[in-house]
Amino acid sequence: MLKKIMAANWKMYKTRDDASRTARELVVAVGDKLPDDREVLLIPPFTALYGVSEMLAGQTGYFLGGQNFYPEQEGAYTGEISPQQLTDCGCSFALVGHSERRHVLGERDDFLAEKVLYGLNSNLKIILCIGETIEERKQGLVEQVLLGQLEKGLARAGQVKAENFIIAYEPVWAIGTGETAGPEDIAQAHDLIRSWLEPNQQEGKDIRILYGGSVKPDNCATIISLDNVDGVLVGGASLKADSFSKIVTA
Ligand code: PEP
Repeated sequence: MLKKIMAANWKMYKTRDDASRTARELVVAVGDKLPDDREVLLIPPFTALYGVSEMLAGQTGYFLGGQNFYPEQEGAYTGEISPQQLTDCGCSFALVGHSERRHVLGERDDFLAEKVLYGLNSNLKIILCIGETIEERKQGLVEQVLLGQLEKGLARAGQVKAENFIIAYEPVWAIGTGETAGPEDIAQAHDLIRSWLEPNQQEGKDIRILYGGSVKPDNCATIISLDNVDGVLVGGASLKADSFSKIVTA
């Protein structure tokens, strides 16, 4: 059984000092209370990766991830970062297709499919984020949107290893809004994703599905206990060690 992933996405917040301090405070606050079936994933901004990786050195159960990468080893891609540069800073995971990359930066499914393939081939565990907007939900398009993003995101990679490929269901309307999807909505979406994975991926029953969208210390225990919820991806409530440690141990 693969471990549940408790992931912190620090987006474009924190200086190097602040990130390293938060990582240290988190390790202290969690102490020996990290359940055996969970791992912690910190996803700081690029500038803080190396410092956080030094801070986490020797800590069992803690991993580092990149928020994004460009699917080439090196080259004239001003402003981008390669998977090799991420692994060089200590990353073993990377996000692909976070809703802010899709909706603010305009990343499209075919480009994301290329990243999934390239990232997996570069020894990164890939977390593919999918999720519907509020308009799509109101129009009854949740199934179409989620399965479409899933199918297109995996179009280049084909069959993947459950250990290396993770899905994060993040309804766009719940990200950073304080509005969490209810347990029924989350369960329904995760069951739907599982019911697509099982017939389409050889290791589909074991691929982890994280939930993200205004996860907080007071709703995490309910969310994490749902069937087919294999962890959480947390933005705002992960910025402070105090609140994220409560989520990690919820
Ligand atoms: C996220 O950044 O992926 C996220 C879910 O943010 P928040 O927890 O702030 O909604």
